[in-house]
Amino acid sequence: DNESHPKEREPSQAERLILDLPSAQNTHNYLKKYTSEAHLAGTPGDERQAHWTRDKFAEFGIESRIDTYYPLLNYPVASRLALISGPKHLRYEASLREDVVEEDETSRDPDVIPTFHGYSKNGTVTGPVVYANYGTVEDFQYLVDQGIQVNGTIALMRYGGNFRGLKLRAAEKFGCIGGLIYSDPIDDGPLNKDQWPHTSPAKSYPEGPWRSESSAQRGSVQYLSLLAGDPLTPGYAATKDAPRIAPEDSPGLTKIPSLPLAWKDALPLLKATQGRGVKATDEWKGGLDEVDYYSGPTEGDVILTNHVDNKITPIWNVIGRINGTEEADRAIIIGNHRDAWVYGAVDPSSGSATLLEVVRSFGELLKTGWRPRRTIIFASWDAEEYGLVGSTEWVEDNRDWLNKEGAVYINMDVAVSGPHFEVKASPSLNNLLYQVTKNVEDPRTGGSVYEAWSNYSGSALPKVDILGSGSDFVGFLDHVGIASIDLGFGGDYGVYHSNYDSIHWMEKFGDPTFEYHATMARIVGSLIVRLSDDRVLPLRPNDYANELSKYVDSIETYTGKQLNNLRAASDSLSRRTRQFERHLAQLEDGLEVYKDAKDSGLPKVLRTRLNKANKRLTYFERGFIDPEGIASRPWFKHVVYAPSLWRGYDSQYFPAIAEAADEQDDDLVAHTVERASKQLYDASNKLKLDLA
Ligand code: GLU
Ligand code: CA
Ligand code: ZN
Ligand code: ZN
Repeated sequence: DNESHPKEREPSQAERLILDLPSAQNTHNYLKKYTSEAHLAGTPGDERQAHWTRDKFAEFGIESRIDTYYPLLNYPVASRLALISGPKHLRYEASLREDVVEEDETSRDPDVIPTFHGYSKNGTVTGPVVYANYGTVEDFQYLVDQGIQVNGTIALMRYGGNFRGLKLRAAEKFGCIGGLIYSDPIDDGPLNKDQWPHTSPAKSYPEGPWRSESSAQRGSVQYLSLLAGDPLTPGYAATKDAPRIAPEDSPGLTKIPSLPLAWKDALPLLKATQGRGVKATDEWKGGLDEVDYYSGPTEGDVILTNHVDNKITPIWNVIGRINGTEEADRAIIIGNHRDAWVYGAVDPSSGSATLLEVVRSFGELLKTGWRPRRTIIFASWDAEEYGLVGSTEWVEDNRDWLNKEGAVYINMDVAVSGPHFEVKASPSLNNLLYQVTKNVEDPRTGGSVYEAWSNYSGSALPKVDILGSGSDFVGFLDHVGIASIDLGFGGDYGVYHSNYDSIHWMEKFGDPTFEYHATMARIVGSLIVRLSDDRVLPLRPNDYANELSKYVDSIETYTGKQLNNLRAASDSLSRRTRQFERHLAQLEDGLEVYKDAKDSGLPKVLRTRLNKANKRLTYFERGFIDPEGIASRPWFKHVVYAPSLWRGYDSQYFPAIAEAADEQDDDLVAHTVERASKQLYDASNKLKLDLA
């Protein structure tokens, strides 16, 4: 219908230039630089790359600086995993090392960053191992219901589904003393069946793009649904002299030691569970055919040593800035993290290389005399991998300014791991994403990115997912209420967080011609031009209202209750957004005549209406922020979205209501429904805001 398809618009001259400028060759060169050394957060390689990035911004003509914070980080010192008692033939010592791949130069030093978990608990534990499937609360409960002794054991869990830190949280809840998280080939290896048709052979690296038997998935085990950022400064910036809470008091830190494992190192443990405990149902079976999966516990004990060094470490966010003209006090922010577990060709350097090409392109655009209406901020975040640390500390540090001036945040983490466009966003940005991707050519099909995206979305309109967690948009959206986008090209990405996430992998499988990098630079550039320079901010609150009314249906089903107040609030919001967009359309028609005039050349009535409209559009998302936050995790303040409490990456709509329902607490359900309804009216009222 008309509301979801506003008038198509030809790209402006600035936008045409931003679509023309990006070069695949440049992104390839930048990627070589970013992957030339390991750059784990807080290490000398990371600091060197921060300086290099800042200098490149400056060279391209963009004002830039480095913002330093001092979070807690941890680094691996020594680790061990061995089956040390029980039947002799089952005993073994795990290698905990990724094999050298001769044709991949950077994999030849597997010890650069040993396999470990970010924010893992330091220590050694000994006990029998129990296989706990994906390590969800339901998985552990199932074991208990089957009469398996879980308390006092070390949980062996496979990657997939829920966020790794929440697997440990579930293990702790059931009394486990340690956690091992391994990559099973059916979830995190060549047997994986992803959502798209595969574009490369289902083989392990280096024959195919998938994980190989010795490869482990590093990664943070913070409780990402409870807190983002530095675990010791919840809600305020980790500046040098900031007060810090004790690690034991942090809501974000796990309490049991853990290690990530390759399936080669997990297999002997699974062998030791053979015939013991309960046999796996189909849902519990992994892809290793050397074993039948059993719960165990193992007869023998396993020793798990995770010796890590915890320390307060400086990290470096690089911040670039172009000042706006007519609306300098409104900012469009684009961010990508720079820190990587090892070389991080895909995660995050494909994004870092693309961001740099975007910055270069805007530098060129400035040389033509172009200036954006609104201010543009380019950010190269640090320490995302540990828990969205650089972006979150920056958001906490700049909260008041962001609350006042932040209009939209665009996040680009993995920019390219294959050819499939994927995006999550605040629904008010859906239409902009459709408009922009229609003007960008897909390198593989020759049609538009929009068409390629529609084709595998399998729906009338291409699929825009909802924002959960797992990357740097969280502080902007969930803590401050800034409309956000997270986008990238996905594919058969089988080397995530491993030593093989290398330039060689990218050249051989991910994006051999670097055309998808250039394509992403065009998409992001085009988004920034429109967001920073369209006279009327290209946000559509009515698309948000339409999604919201679906969430109301779902949460009613979830709670099994009729939530009349929430329904009324959502209906009222829909009426308001429809009316608002009718006014917006009139305003846009009125402005048509003055296309080339400066704001000062507009008739006063029109100018006032324009200023009001942009103010209302900027603050609309802010309406969903409840200062109280969610009771169980008050740092999260958005009433519509939060990372799901036990899954983490996925989003939960109306999170506080859902949690109250999970706890079967009717009073809390009533209270949270009231809070959410109030915020829906608040968002609605933002569309009536007058000029201050
Ligand atoms: N993107 C990282 C991951 O998924 C960090 C997420 C987090 O800790 O919040 O491992
Ligand atoms: Ca903090
Ligand atoms: Zn990343
Ligand atoms: Zn990552």
